[in-house]
Amino acid sequence: MNQEELEAAKQLLLEMRRQVLQEVQGSMHTYRELGEESLPDISDVSANAANRDVLLNLGATQQQKIRDIDAALERIRSGEYGVCVRCEEEISQARMKVRPFSRFCIDCKTDIEKFGE
Ligand SMILES: [Zn+2]
Repeated sequence: MNQEELEAAKQLLLEMRRQVLQEVQGSMHTYRELGEESLPDISDVSANAANRDVLLNLGATQQQKIRDIDAALERIRSGEYGVCVRCEEEISQARMKVRPFSRFCIDCKTDIEKFGE
């Protein structure tokens, strides 16, 4: 994967992360119930205190999604992005487009689903 593709993947992941956080914000009643005057700005992706509180309120599915996205962002930083963590082959572009946080190539994913990790 070249630098340009990595950058595009990173933007896509950050956008997905924002969307998940927005979903959470939309369904989040805790702050209102607590009588907080203003909702924290969770569109900022930095890991500040407000974000951590918000993360505590995330549903399990959304938490998992955020973790997957963060792990993918981490792999972009470490240069491991787009490479299968099991067989170390490059994951197909088509697959990375559909699931930009994929850690396994389609062959390994199929194996894992059949036989476990
Ligand atoms: Zn693989």
